[in-house]
Amino acid sequence: MIKARNIHKSYGNLEVLKGVDIHIKVGEVVSIVGESGAGKSTLLQILGTLDLPTNSKGFDTEITIAGESFINMNDKQLSKFRNQNIGFVFQFHQLLPEFTALENVLLPTKIAGASEKEAIEKAYALFEDLKIEQRLHHKPNQLSGGEAQRVAVARALINSPKIIFADEPTGNLDSKNADDLHRLFFDLRDKYNQTFVIVTHNPGLAEITDRKLVMKDGMIIE
Ligand code: ADP
Ligand code: ADP
Repeated sequence: MIKARNIHKSYGNLEVLKGVDIHIKVGEVVSIVGESGAGKSTLLQILGTLDLPTNSKGFDTEITIAGESFINMNDKQLSKFRNQNIGFVFQFHQLLPEFTALENVLLPTKIAGASEKEAIEKAYALFEDLKIEQRLHHKPNQLSGGEAQRVAVARALINSPKIIFADEPTGNLDSKNADDLHRLFFDLRDKYNQTFVIVTHNPGLAEITDRKLVMKDGMIIE
């Protein structure tokens, strides 16, 4: 699903990624752990096309998702590629407060120009998978923290992305809600062969993923 070689990133003189190689297989649930400042979020942003590596030609960097290289795409090509291939989940749900759960989840399908009927069917299926089918018409402030985060996961999945990148998805949840969300990630992997790359400080999650990558000082050390 992902083949990346020699990813470098610097902010001024600060070298944040020092030549990261990473391979992720289809259907793998991989966690990335490591102390604060190790470069985890930066790596996720680059793999997720939200940020670009530094001096990619000089370093002979390669990054492909599902066989497609994106580091030389222009902005328009990149946003299309992102919308078709990649879903994101962040620590805070970032749902739009004035829209219902269902409307929030449908927004990416409108941007993609998908058929409305198919989008609604897919949304209903995801709300069931994520056990929030009673919450379709609730607004974000009427949802518990765990429910809002599950709506954010449904939104990330609605366009059937090849890969989901999650940055501390349970960082704002209590342990019961965090465990429930972890279980749902694996259910989604089992049902849709969905690939997940998850940055986490949650040791329970890191232990149950297929692989745990440890980052330190801009490199994967384990
Ligand atoms: P982690 O996710 O492992 O905590 P980050 O990738 O967020 O690490 O950050 C790695 C380093 O890069 C940190 O020292 C951070 O301060 C720095 N950094 C991240 N983003 C920026 C930025 N936009 N500008 C300058 N420095 C940044
Ligand atoms: P938690 O204790 O898990 O954080 P809450 O006490 O916030 O959960 O919510 C419990 C239940 O009540 C949730 O299922 C949520 O959807 C529902 N709920 C919370 N606030 C509202 C509200 N303002 N209107 C309607 N339903 C709500």
